[in-house]
Amino acid sequence: MTSKTTVKTLLILGASGDLTGRLLLPGLAGLLASGGAPGLRLVGAGSDPWSPEQWSERVDGAFAAASKDADSQGQAALAAVAESTRYHQLDVTADGPLAELLSQLEGPVAIYFALPPHISQKACEVLHPEQLPAGTRLVMEKPFGSGTESAHELNKTLAALVPEDHIHRVDHFLGKATVLNILGFRFANRFLEPVWNREHIEKVEVIFDEDLALEGRARYYDTAGALRDMIQSHLLHIMAFLAIDPPATIDERDLRDAVATVLRASSIKAPFSASTRRARYTAGTLGERTVPDYAAEEGVDPSRNTETLAEVCVNIDNWRWKGVPFILRSGKAMGQRRKEAVITFRPVPHLPKGFSGLDSPNQLRIGFGPDVLELDIDVNGPGDIFTLDRASLVTELNAPGMLPYGEVLEGILNGDPLLSVRGDTAEDCWRIIEPVLAAWANGDVPLEEYDAGSDGPANWPTSDVG
Ligand code: NDP
Repeated sequence: MTSKTTVKTLLILGASGDLTGRLLLPGLAGLLASGGAPGLRLVGAGSDPWSPEQWSERVDGAFAAASKDADSQGQAALAAVAESTRYHQLDVTADGPLAELLSQLEGPVAIYFALPPHISQKACEVLHPEQLPAGTRLVMEKPFGSGTESAHELNKTLAALVPEDHIHRVDHFLGKATVLNILGFRFANRFLEPVWNREHIEKVEVIFDEDLALEGRARYYDTAGALRDMIQSHLLHIMAFLAIDPPATIDERDLRDAVATVLRASSIKAPFSASTRRARYTAGTLGERTVPDYAAEEGVDPSRNTETLAEVCVNIDNWRWKGVPFILRSGKAMGQRRKEAVITFRPVPHLPKGFSGLDSPNQLRIGFGPDVLELDIDVNGPGDIFTLDRASLVTELNAPGMLPYGEVLEGILNGDPLLSVRGDTAEDCWRIIEPVLAAWANGDVPLEEYDAGSDGPANWPTSDVG
């Protein structure tokens, strides 16, 4: 692992929150254990009046698993951070306390806003550029704004504080391994690029189905829903990496330019009753567990009609992709966990007469967790040589050694914005889904139902969406 750490201090605002405990600290632990971020100092801050012992307990607890598996160097790195960490109680929205804390920290500092979105916005508004140690990086969580306009305003606030390449808008789905696996496969194989277009590809699906229900996250999820939570922030990006033109280099400028170009050409076409679907789960079972009706979950306001499953058909209006549906869908409380992109090729123009048995087109599946590549091909299999059989070429991909947040933190602490979402792109992702949100709020598309633990509503997935 390279050790070009530029950030000296990681300041987590919202240190007592769920994201910090469940994802950030374990991600950091994995990074430290594998030799990343040498010499880093960790500082936590939040509005809770936590004692130093309470914070240490949280850090130790989150580091324990990584420490158990680490070699002696990794254990020493974890212990050094755990022993030197501090906690500060402060209201980040007040003018003064955060600036005062920053003045005491060794820079460059990465300020991780693990806060409710409106609090992050307020915290940025009370900061002034001269209060930030040189080289400060601002790390923003999703959701980034609540629409194009608010994302634009937030971008303006951040731009007044630090340059764009010091702003990390986190999308933890864009872990390095996932993205580089897609790009390596696409651009390092001569046979692939010539067929990677509308002439040869019929449709592309990006699917993230979870076998988890609400899991007590009503406060956030009930105001977000599957379209905002998954498609706006994550799946559009995965789609973009599948659709970009080959960049000259894998540096942040070329790669993020390519992503921005694809997203600018993307839209969801009206009528939305044909190009989108939404549904909400009712009571059912997930494995051994009984799941209540979403509308009856604690903290849910059923009148919001929040969808727990969403499907949209995105069109990319350029020479390469015109007319190819990119179907993005994601559901909660699904019977089967599926995290993959499926590329369906067009049928061959002519199958020599005499062959039989071929009834489905070639498909390529790129799995994200487990990371796997699977290409379905038709071959003269065993038995009658005139009967074609389906075979799969399967290869496991370079699985990330770290948790997704470890990969995200590695980029941030190395000062590398390659995998963070650029400001213009964040606004474009809202621009793409905003008309759908408006149509859904207007009741133009019915809210369907499906049993928790099932495969979705009737006639799901939609085969001819778009
Ligand atoms: P929580 O509500 O669990 O935590 C929020 C934290 O912010 C708490 O530590 C809270 O402290 C602190 N806080 C609130 N107001 C202030 C203030 N004025 N000054 C200082 N600290 C304050 O939220 P999450 O951890 O779940 O989410 C944080 C962010 O991460 C959100 O933007 C969310 O969308 C995003 N996110 C969360 C994920 C998750 O799985 N949790 C996944 C992906 C993104 P106190 O309790 O003392 O008020």
